[in-house]
Amino acid sequence: MTKEELMRKAIELSVENVENGGGPFGAVIAKDGQIVATGVNRVTSNCDPTAHAEVSAIRAACEKLGTFDLSGYEIYTSCEPCPMCLGAIYWAHLDKMYYGNNKTDAKNIGFDDSFIYDELELPKDRRKLPSEIVLPEEAIKAFDMWMKKEDKVEY
Ligand SMILES: [Zn+2]
Repeated sequence: MTKEELMRKAIELSVENVENGGGPFGAVIAKDGQIVATGVNRVTSNCDPTAHAEVSAIRAACEKLGTFDLSGYEIYTSCEPCPMCLGAIYWAHLDKMYYGNNKTDAKNIGFDDSFIYDELELPKDRRKLPSEIVLPEEAIKAFDMWMKKEDKVEY
């Protein structure tokens, strides 16, 4: 399949998802023009705020392929990813992303991903989400153990 055909599939999934009561987002993971997995937004149907199309597609691809590393694969998403999904795309080591709608299009229909992008640019004390460091001297124990562990699976 060409990149347009793969994007058309992501768009088709987004349209079907609206018809099925979900959010207007779809994603496809592919390699060499072949689809390996798809995902749609299931936030409300699964009561899962992390069930965005891209994260769903990454989970499906990793489960199918039995790996946590999607190097060599590409993602086609009907909309520019939110910061969570963008992070997931980096963590999955996908080679490239393609998107149809952009984050301004999403904002215009009430999905304000740009709000989180804006927050990330602010110093922590000016963000809407208060945060506080608690027990760092105890939390570091697992990190020390990880550093010393010889049979760890690095990712
Ligand atoms: Zn997302």
